[in-house]
Amino acid sequence: MIVLKFGGSSVADAEGIRRVCAIVASRRDRSPVVVVSALGGVTDLLLEATAAAGRGDLAGQEAAIAGIERRHRWALSGCLDDAGSRQDAEMVLADTFDEIKLLLRSVRTLGELSPRARDALLAFGELLSSRLLAAALAGTGVAASWVDSRKVVATDGNHGSATPDLALMADTVKANVLALVESGQVPVIGGFVGSSPDGITTTLGRGGGDTTAAVVAAAGGAEELQIWTDVDGLMTADPRLVVEASCLARVSFAEASEMASFGARVLHPASVSPAVSASIPVRVLNSGRPEQAGTVLLERSDPSRRGIVSLTSRAGLTAVFLEADRAIGGTTFRRQLLDGLGRSGVLPELVQLSAVGGLAVFRDARACTVQARRWAELGQVGIVEDAGLVAAVGECLREDHALRGEVCREVAALQPLALGAGGTALSVYAMYPQAKLETAVKQLHRRFFQEVSRT
Ligand code: ADP
Ligand code: ASP
Ligand code: MG
Repeated sequence: MIVLKFGGSSVADAEGIRRVCAIVASRRDRSPVVVVSALGGVTDLLLEATAAAGRGDLAGQEAAIAGIERRHRWALSGCLDDAGSRQDAEMVLADTFDEIKLLLRSVRTLGELSPRARDALLAFGELLSSRLLAAALAGTGVAASWVDSRKVVATDGNHGSATPDLALMADTVKANVLALVESGQVPVIGGFVGSSPDGITTTLGRGGGDTTAAVVAAAGGAEELQIWTDVDGLMTADPRLVVEASCLARVSFAEASEMASFGARVLHPASVSPAVSASIPVRVLNSGRPEQAGTVLLERSDPSRRGIVSLTSRAGLTAVFLEADRAIGGTTFRRQLLDGLGRSGVLPELVQLSAVGGLAVFRDARACTVQARRWAELGQVGIVEDAGLVAAVGECLREDHALRGEVCREVAALQPLALGAGGTALSVYAMYPQAKLETAVKQLHRRFFQEVSRT
């Protein structure tokens, strides 16, 4: 058995869904189990709809839901040729949208959006996409069966970022997934969604479809986990920023984790760690170019590789700098600063700290302002809005000090606001004003990947 996971970018429209059907059909001899995310952008729209309902904004809610309905009806009309099957699928969609609207109405009436209600609503993205894909596969002659992920993915009750229970899943996967595979069916499961010990719908956190795929692969003893997306694999930079970025054939788990923490959203290795721990090979592939070999995730680094593997970047950050008040001792300063961060409830993406100053970088600008207000009691505070981080990542940075020095020099030449080396020692990072971010990534990419002879 192999697990094929298709991200939202692979099933964004009818054309994408048709491509996915062809990929699944061509791998039938390997007993595929399919995990699918919500159609690209739908989870964001569901979030908009739920937030609007929570504040009683009916017009906002309706606009978002109409967008979701349009996307699904359009996709459905383009990926199912048989009129009878299309009608059946349309009825399933109509019933599901009735349910969504009923739930949103109760949120609006109560004027309160609980974590449990939010999960119940967000889950509809994957419930819809998995139904749609199962119908589309059946329409192309693949014996596909829709499987309710809530019967498969047993989680704790931590709404919004629930953790799957692999021990429990040995049984649920056997009964609800492997049994279908044995009878020649292709199970289609919505990612991202599970259920708590009380049977309440939970979600696994943004990007959680990868986690679903990994736990299903681990619990079902898969031969391989394939993560299908819209790029050729893990690349030397985000291809949306750097057109010259190239695909990496092999990346170590540690490198991929470092890339993800600095913004490469293509794959968060922590989410596939259940598969890696079970020694199941993980491959990242492009559903638009299925003939490409993709990237294989390895436990250890590629020994034949010299130089860094990737330049990763993250935009839309806010940073707060602090210079400690001279009257406050270094120990008190550090303790109060760390306590304050711990209490804030919103964790920064990055922290630098010394006895006389500190820097914390946040994704959420409001959390940053709250933090800055707290820090003002400890010294002189400065906020940088619209900041971005760039990180050069590679296992070789741990030991190749000359290379590390060179990366630092090139990064510093672009005048960063802050500079540092990752705690794992396999990255060097710098913070720039956002306006300079793209130029910095492009320039560094040119230097470390395009001027091959110098690296
Ligand atoms: P999916 O919908 O399949 O889950 P995502 O949008 O989550 O896909 O991730 C794929 C995207 O990740 C790509 O379109 C690409 O723009 C982005 N990305 C960022 N950094 C990298 C990188 N280093 N390598 C590959 N993709 C990257
Ligand atoms: N649909 C969810 C998200 O957008 C989960 C996923 O795509 O993996 O975050
Ligand atoms: Mg993703």
